[in-house]
This record gives sequence, C-alpha cells and structure tokens, in this order.
Amino acid sequence: MANPLAPSPKGLDARYADDSASVIQARVDQVINWLINWGRHNSIWYMLFGLACCAIELMQTGGPRADLERFGSAPRPSPRTSDLIIVAGTLTYKMALRIKRLYDQMAEPRYVISMGSCSNCGGLFQYAYSVCKGVDNMFPVDIYVPGCPPRPEALLEGLLRIQDKIKGEKFLQKRYGVAV
Ligand code: SF4
Repeated sequence: MANPLAPSPKGLDARYADDSASVIQARVDQVINWLINWGRHNSIWYMLFGLACCAIELMQTGGPRADLERFGSAPRPSPRTSDLIIVAGTLTYKMALRIKRLYDQMAEPRYVISMGSCSNCGGLFQYAYSVCKGVDNMFPVDIYVPGCPPRPEALLEGLLRIQDKIKGEKFLQKRYGVAV
C-alpha cells in the first residue's frame, strides 16, 4: 500500500489537488446515490399475487383505511413494471412454477415480501401433498410477514422494512460499479 505521507513526485500542491478532486467526486457520487435511493424507496410499485385468504388483507392494505399509496406504493398488473412482489396465501406446487416465471420477468433490483404463514412455511397446510413449504423454495425472500392472516398494519411494516433496505443500498456501486 502506498505511504500517504511520502512526498509526491508531482509536488505537494499536486498531491493535495488530486486528493480534493477525489473527495469531491466521492461526495457527488454519495449525493447522487442518495437521490436515486430517495426516489426508489418512495415509489415501490408492487405486483399482487393473491393466492388465498391473505389476499383479502392485502386488498385491505391498498384500501382507504391503511392506504398503502401514501408511501408511494401502487399496484401494478405486470411483472415488467414492478419492483416488489407480495406473495399472499397458500402456494401450491401447481402455482409455484407460475410465480417463479413472474419473478424471473421482474427487472433487477427486485424485492419479495412473503405475507402470512402459508407463504412463509406452508402454514396450516404444510403437511398437504400439494402445498409448497414456503415461497423461499422458489426464490429469495426479503421480508417475511407473520400471521394468519397478517393485519394490514403488519404488511405496512413489511413495506417500511423494504424501504429501509433500499435506503441503505449502494445503488451506483451495484449497477455501475461506482464506489460510494
Ligand atoms: S396464512 Fe392463514 S389467512 Fe393466510 S392464506 Fe394461509 S390460512 Fe389463509
């Protein structure tokens, strides 16, 4: 590793000029990263994937009482325009391949909330021959919301945790390899 106290071959002034330029560059990258993350975490569009009774609570969360849209989140009908998929309900093996295909069609970076016991681990039906024992057998899950069914407030909490995750991400580094 280079000794930072060693005299620069270009002279002292040139060394300070190089350092201050790189500090400014790093600061600018941090501000851009923060701005991008601010926009991303305030506009998480989610794809609905209601499979069973949990989907009723999911619809309630989008309704006027819980009002998910006040956090900038709106439902989308297509995986191509969704940042988040909320898997709500009992996942059978028959549906598992369909949901995997939808997940694969989502653009990176993408996030997953598993809503309710059935989606988390099979829940009440975990011993049924036809039920998948958790959606994390199909793809990675970011947030597990427990309950049977979870209340809308619990799902809102899950969304806020996704927002926290996005806020802490080094988006520029992940996407473009820029160190921030
Ligand atoms: S967790 Fe409970 S409410 Fe949700 S789909 Fe399963 S049985 Fe229904």
